[in-house]
Amino acid sequence: MSHENALVGVKVVIDAGPTYEDIDPVRFLGNRSSGKMGFAIAEACVAEGADVTLIAGPVALATPGGVACRVDVRSALQMRDAVMKVIDNADIFIATAAVADWRVAEYSSRKIKKNASGAPVLELVENPDILAEVAARDPRPFVVGFAAETDHVAEHAREKLERKKLDMLAANHVDENIGIGADDNALELIWPGGSETLPRASKSQLAKTLVARIAARYHARKAT
Ligand code: C5P
Repeated sequence: MSHENALVGVKVVIDAGPTYEDIDPVRFLGNRSSGKMGFAIAEACVAEGADVTLIAGPVALATPGGVACRVDVRSALQMRDAVMKVIDNADIFIATAAVADWRVAEYSSRKIKKNASGAPVLELVENPDILAEVAARDPRPFVVGFAAETDHVAEHAREKLERKKLDMLAANHVDENIGIGADDNALELIWPGGSETLPRASKSQLAKTLVARIAARYHARKAT
């Protein structure tokens, strides 16, 4: 692994993986995120000399060597709390987590029973947007978001970059072979005033390129 040292002394917070929103003691709402992209980015940041805090949803992945701190969480609210605890000291925040957009309004502490009156109706409430909340802070770290899209990737990504006021956004096209849960990915990287396509590669190769671009723009912004 190359040590370019582009992030020596830089504190990076990364969130990764899915969140699980419990319905009752045996059921939850989840998604297909594996956490592989976020963990690969954590590894690439370590290789550049960064001090990395990795906040992970429920994933089956070993902590990359050299990660200074790993915090395991389950739900979006827990992930938000874990991020906010450490964000004051962060220089860069990379939000790779597939945070559930909704959670159930009321968790049932007893298993919901099947009964003759038919299927239950779950009331959902919106989860906080962790990325937008970090981007709205003042002062704030350099903020990088992700966006998984099934169509019109570039337009949706540019809209998201502006709406959430991000410094950089990595958008990926999702289908069965690429993106969420898969080993390969391809990214459309955009920032205010520019964009670059990072072609299909393994998540670990792509993470190295992405982290090099993040480091370059982070240092460029600091210099202004
Ligand atoms: O708007 P959308 O969910 O597609 O945005 C994706 C980006 O926002 C990702 O970087 C994801 O980690 C972040 N996000 C978040 N909190 C949410 C929803 C998304 O931090 N509740």
